[in-house]
Amino acid sequence: MRLPAALIEEAVQWRRQLHAWPELGYEEQDTARFVAEQLRSFGLQVATGLAGTGVIGTLESGPGPAIGLRADMDALPITELGRSPWQSQRPGVMHACGHDGHTAMLLASAKWLAQTRRFSGTVHFIFQPAEENLGGARRMVEEGLFQRFPMDAVYALHNWPGLPLGELAINDGAMMASLDSFEITLSGKSCHAAMPESGADPIVAAAQLIMALQTIPARRLSPLASSVVSVTQIQGGEAINVIPETVTLRGTVRCLQSEVREKVRGLIDAFVAALPQPLGVSGAISWYPGYPVTHNHANAAALVRQVANAQFGAERVHWQVNPSMASEDFACMLEACPGAYFWLGADGAEPSRPLHNASYDFNDALIEQGVAFWQRLVETHLPLSVNAR
Ligand SMILES: [Zn+2]
Ligand SMILES: [Zn+2]
Repeated sequence: MRLPAALIEEAVQWRRQLHAWPELGYEEQDTARFVAEQLRSFGLQVATGLAGTGVIGTLESGPGPAIGLRADMDALPITELGRSPWQSQRPGVMHACGHDGHTAMLLASAKWLAQTRRFSGTVHFIFQPAEENLGGARRMVEEGLFQRFPMDAVYALHNWPGLPLGELAINDGAMMASLDSFEITLSGKSCHAAMPESGADPIVAAAQLIMALQTIPARRLSPLASSVVSVTQIQGGEAINVIPETVTLRGTVRCLQSEVREKVRGLIDAFVAALPQPLGVSGAISWYPGYPVTHNHANAAALVRQVANAQFGAERVHWQVNPSMASEDFACMLEACPGAYFWLGADGAEPSRPLHNASYDFNDALIEQGVAFWQRLVETHLPLSVNAR
């Protein structure tokens, strides 16, 4: 059954309104208020304040299991270069990852499912804050998302530039890598650059350490294990003729298997502790809370595949694709509840700009597909015939 044109037009308007008024992680006050008002107007029970600005709309329709569908609401600290009529009205803040589109699609799905109710069970529509690096999903889990709203499975999608519109990609294992960020401080002893023997040089230690960290994926892991260690910032030194007291290195580790993640972290710790020592330099490392691997559960992934085959045709469904080495904090929900995360193709006749690009804009042609997909997934996971009395 086709979706009403008016529903999709309204969702496109929502999407453009959200795009014009983007908000950073945990600051999604206007967005959350708008989402909650809309959900109430559809007749859903609404809970607000989970993880600060998180909103959950619950739609009950008879007996049966409960599932969650998640959209992220936050924008990025980027100055938009695009010049659409719905261009960001907040300088330096931009929906460059399409979370405006995810939110609009999920809202429209809630509205449509509340009208049609061709399912038996409960759907929790989860509007999550702070997906970009700030761990909104983890905070929702910690604040009792799955205790307050028990569910049998949770699903999330992301629009995916590089994949054509009308195609879907999913795995029954890793979809996105783990992410850990670190800061290493190398403490030596400053001295005249002409008399290195009177000090301890943290710059030379940094150079050795950076190279040593690259040997972890290359020499300490199997070539079949996937991990990337990137030192992305170096700070140290003020004068051209002075060996500085300290150097700070920052960077990230991304892996596709939790065992590999643990091993890499352990090896970095060991290098930082041991490698600078012969230079008279001491190393200390701080790890920032990261995201686990976004690892789909087999049954939920199979259900998404089944629904995708029905909606798009099997030839447009990509199964067992290469995971992305980027990360996604929906991983934290998948650690606490079975579920699956998948990509919906975003490339129209013109390819989409990449995610996080200053000229990116969510492809509105995706909205109808996304709403239709959520509807079909709900009606497949919570079928009327089996659960209805
Ligand atoms: Zn993003
Ligand atoms: Zn995103």
